[in-house]
Amino acid sequence: MSDLTKLTLKTALQGLESKSFSAVELTQAHVAAVESAKALNAFVLETPDKALDMARASDARRARGEAGALDGAPLGIKDLFCTEGVRSTACSRILGDFKPTYESTVTANLWRDGAVMLGKLNMDEFAMGSSNESSAFGPVINPWRGQGDDTPRTPGGSSGGSAAAVAAELCLGATATDTGGSIRQPAAFTGTVGIKPTYGRCSRWGVVAFASSLDQAGPIARNVEDAAILLKSMAGHDAKDSTSLDVEVPDFASFVGKSVKGLRIGIPKEYRADGMPPEIEKLWEQGVAWLKAAGCEIVEVSLPHTKYALPAYYIVAPAEASSNLARYDGMRYGLRVDGANLTETYEQTRAQGFGEEVKRRILIGSYVLSAGYYDAYYLKALKVRRRISDDFDQAFEKVDALLTPTAPSAAFTLGENADDPVAMYLNDIFTVTVNLAGLPGMSVPAGVDANGLPLGLQLIGRPLDEGTLFSLGGVIEEAAQFKTRPQRWW
Ligand code: GLN
Repeated sequence: MSDLTKLTLKTALQGLESKSFSAVELTQAHVAAVESAKALNAFVLETPDKALDMARASDARRARGEAGALDGAPLGIKDLFCTEGVRSTACSRILGDFKPTYESTVTANLWRDGAVMLGKLNMDEFAMGSSNESSAFGPVINPWRGQGDDTPRTPGGSSGGSAAAVAAELCLGATATDTGGSIRQPAAFTGTVGIKPTYGRCSRWGVVAFASSLDQAGPIARNVEDAAILLKSMAGHDAKDSTSLDVEVPDFASFVGKSVKGLRIGIPKEYRADGMPPEIEKLWEQGVAWLKAAGCEIVEVSLPHTKYALPAYYIVAPAEASSNLARYDGMRYGLRVDGANLTETYEQTRAQGFGEEVKRRILIGSYVLSAGYYDAYYLKALKVRRRISDDFDQAFEKVDALLTPTAPSAAFTLGENADDPVAMYLNDIFTVTVNLAGLPGMSVPAGVDANGLPLGLQLIGRPLDEGTLFSLGGVIEEAAQFKTRPQRWW
């Protein structure tokens, strides 16, 4: 049965439809794969019984001719999504054994369409990080290894569990979230496809908040078409999230395979970061050549405020986080460490419940929002954010989409950036601009480095134009023929 885990989501759905196998068989194969992959630490909670119940219900629906778009497809869910009655912790000690009494809209949409939940996926604590090392459950190990090199590497973060589980064929797809790159960078580090849709495409209801004006949910999948199928189910207007957009959700998969002839693709010159490894530069040039060969016109564009994006992000995101995380006070749910009085109880709960990185963000956020510094930091960062958004608006007058690398390196080894927060933050240099401007961004695997590790290219689109990204992503995928999978060592 283990071959069933090698299928793409699309082919698995076809196999279910043609009765080549049942949802129960497909789920059993994935449950076994999850069980045998403990070494990756991708799942923080496995829900095999629930998965099999859902699979049986799916088979019954299909027999009645009532199968939905994802019926019987086993998926993994990032632990940032609240799942009713199933422990949801954002991989923080402070949430303890929190079992939500409600379901996030995105996951509810997936279950509405018949998907099966295999369990909850590891991530950086509260989605703060780029390596999955800030998780209270310990880091995820990237299924990819360097050539002749067993040193454990990061799958990226914060959606490290999602990316590792998809790359290691533990699930057919996974939910993820992206505040500054957390879908795209892990996708690039694991040879998978990830798309952060336009801000507002997916409801944030029931997704534990990090920085509410930047957070977006999206899928990580094996290929571009699978990502399109998943996003279609995840997206949609939701009255419970006032920032969710009341617009039609297109059939994203219908854009995959569409001609991109005549599209104008912008190459932002400011993304030629100093010290960019030659391999990344080469990959980018290769991407340009592929799109040219497909009939695109390549145009150099300028996004002049790019150099301020990372500092602005690392003010806005912590500011919002410090406010969002004020609710974890030990009173209503999660961890409580009793002190001699109320203030001490708050202090001890938060001191013991939050990890180092989360505390750092709360401190930075409280500082930049404090009365004396608000104008100098927070307000200034908001003005920079506006400029960055204007830069993109101007570029999109000339081009239909942008092409950049996803990350400045391939997957680094665990511990490599752990003691240097700034080095860690530099990982987000190509991804945070997209969140600041609310645009859709996709990472597609495009090649490997000299060490055999995957590298990704990023496509950035106009607001609500995910369709063009799926078309362009399909072209890059086809041209790159990225078919290698990590060798199984776990
Ligand atoms: N790495 C970035 C951060 O630490 C982005 C995280 C994310 O997108 N959730 O904030």
